[in-house]
Amino acid sequence: MDLISFRRLPNARPYLHGDEEAAAAEVLRSGQYGHGPVTEEFECRLAELLGVPDIVAVASGTAALHIALLTAGVGPGDEVVVPSLTFAATVQAILATGARPVWCEIDPRTLCVTPPILLQALTPRTRAVLPVLYGGRAIDLTPIRDILDQRGIAVVEDAAHAFGSRTRRDGRHVGGTGALTCFSFDPIKNLTCGDGGAVVPRTPGEGVTARRLRGLGIEQDARKRASATTYDVTGFGLRAHLPALNAAIGLVQLRHFAAVAR
Ligand SMILES: *Cc1c(COP(=O)(O)O)cnc(C)c1O
Repeated sequence: MDLISFRRLPNARPYLHGDEEAAAAEVLRSGQYGHGPVTEEFECRLAELLGVPDIVAVASGTAALHIALLTAGVGPGDEVVVPSLTFAATVQAILATGARPVWCEIDPRTLCVTPPILLQALTPRTRAVLPVLYGGRAIDLTPIRDILDQRGIAVVEDAAHAFGSRTRRDGRHVGGTGALTCFSFDPIKNLTCGDGGAVVPRTPGEGVTARRLRGLGIEQDARKRASATTYDVTGFGLRAHLPALNAAIGLVQLRHFAAVAR
């Protein structure tokens, strides 16, 4: 007889509570599966939980990173400092903007970047730093915030692992710490929409830009457009909205999440 029996420990297994199915069925019956009121309600509930004025729901964490970088003005010729310990998506999002990823180290104790590591990696071409909140750990960049601001360098956080995390310093939710924060709601993340993501803008202007990029550069929202005979296409866009079907799943997950996250 074996003295030791091995059991596989599930790592990042998707978890549904059960009531997601009914919520998705209701959206199917409503006929409004695309962007619409359910997506907007999901955005409001997310913002409420995180204590932020606004949040922009998008199709994936990767799309959130791409849109956040574009919103920060990152483009060809720029450098973005990123830790090499991350998922491929972080770097693909940088490449998608035409900017150059510049690898940096991590602190082996936390698996995350530190302010001195980021400072060391800056060059005159650095347009943004992209810390990864590895394993959900909030990163405090307060000591170098002024230096980054003075040099016009944006902080875009890859918080794919960190929905619901709080800072050690003052207990603020990740997303409410003054960075352009990106979440993923893919099946193995803390909260799932089936697939999805979100960007937390730092200003109302960034919210407008992120929404325009999420659509097809169209300023008006989908409901107004349905009744309008003309609309303006004012820029580039990715068609990376979060469909209502996914938002409905997220809303249910968020209800359960809020019950334990307080
Ligand atoms: C999951 C993940 C992403 C990408 O999110 P998707 O929703 O799958 O596009 C980005 N960065 C990290 C660190 C991730 O774990």
